[in-house]
Amino acid sequence: MEKIVILTGAGISAESGLGTFRDEGGLWAQHRIEDVATPEGFARDPALVHRFYNARRVQAAKAKSNAAHAALARLQMDFPGEVVIVTQNVDSLHESGGAEHVIHMHGTLAGAFCPACNHRWASPPEMAVGEPCPACGAATARPDVVWFGEMPYYMDAIYDHLAEATLFAAIGTSGQVYPAAAFVHEALQSGARTVELNLEPSTGASSFDEVILGPATETVPSWVDGLLSPR
Ligand SMILES: [Zn+2]
Repeated sequence: MEKIVILTGAGISAESGLGTFRDEGGLWAQHRIEDVATPEGFARDPALVHRFYNARRVQAAKAKSNAAHAALARLQMDFPGEVVIVTQNVDSLHESGGAEHVIHMHGTLAGAFCPACNHRWASPPEMAVGEPCPACGAATARPDVVWFGEMPYYMDAIYDHLAEATLFAAIGTSGQVYPAAAFVHEALQSGARTVELNLEPSTGASSFDEVILGPATETVPSWVDGLLSPR
């Protein structure tokens, strides 16, 4: 059976209006990464970090999934094999585009996490300092997102999927954030064909068998059409 493993990054959400820490202007430009996206930053000023993620939650709630998200959901539904979607994105646009079983390796804006007891729950739209964990009462609740310097989630499951992949695709990823940047090498070792779909070549583009350049809302639907057309 064929198995497609897809890694998506910020590039697939960019056309839905969600910026990243590399963009100029927007939410990220008003802050330093060290202040709002590291455990040390949260320890220093949790109120600032909560404000930042509250604003990201508002922004993400307004964003609509685009043609690239919809195409991947269609692939998951119609491909006569397994399609695994792994995303670095903390938005829920794959899900609102119709995808199922999305692996959020960097967590999700929709979640809250208690580092004292590892309990996870649905985040309120606004989190504040001192809110007690519903399980243990500790007042250290944080957004359930993986920050710089922290280990991404579900790595064992992801490596198991990569070991079984017959096709690996990286969509809208910079190729600069590890361990995701190394997934292509795992897939190649498993004998998978590899393809990158990106606005411009990533730093790791030369590792891929094929590179398709252009906006995700154009390249992803036509790539999916090709995979679904009878061979
Ligand atoms: Zn707790």
